[in-house]
Amino acid sequence: MIRPTVGFTMNEDKPVVITESCLAVLVASCLETPSKETGGFLIGREEENRLIYGQRMDCLRLDTAYPVQTKKSGRGYWKLGNLRAYNRIIDAIKSMGFDLVGEYHSHIDNSAELSDDDKKFIEIEYRRLESKGIEISNWVEMVLNVNEKKYERRQARNYSCSPLKNRIKIITKGVRDLYMGYSITIATYWFDRENHAFPEAKVFLP
Ligand SMILES: [Zn+2]
Repeated sequence: MIRPTVGFTMNEDKPVVITESCLAVLVASCLETPSKETGGFLIGREEENRLIYGQRMDCLRLDTAYPVQTKKSGRGYWKLGNLRAYNRIIDAIKSMGFDLVGEYHSHIDNSAELSDDDKKFIEIEYRRLESKGIEISNWVEMVLNVNEKKYERRQARNYSCSPLKNRIKIITKGVRDLYMGYSITIATYWFDRENHAFPEAKVFLP
């Protein structure tokens, strides 16, 4: 399904691999409220020497995602609704020995780029985690840009994905009704806290 794009080398930033179970959660979470932003946490692990399209490389593997239920959201924003609830999510994940590796959120404004508000939010978030004694070596922020698609003919309910430079584009058909579907572009960004920079990572599906 996904093929590496030309020019990908081992020297590029560490790739992010989204497992199928994680992808299912992400897509369902975004399409639950396609006209509102949504978001949550990414749970995963750094993995050494994973075979990705014939090359062994170190990557960040995303095992699952947790959609935050106590969020406040609308057109163009989502935020935490309740700090204590948020802390309980983090404590629960950590108490079970899983690694919190980042966050995801959807966009409905036709952009998979991080906004200035997103960048400020990530810096605050990271400091909050540090104040809880949680150290994260690699924090990743994923943006899922959701667009509605209408078809003139009936579509079979199906799904496809294709690479788009560093990103992945998912198309779901037959969602809501057989003349509708959604396209979702997935982009991920590392948080380089020393330089306050957000370089884009390369995303893969297994
Ligand atoms: Zn955003």
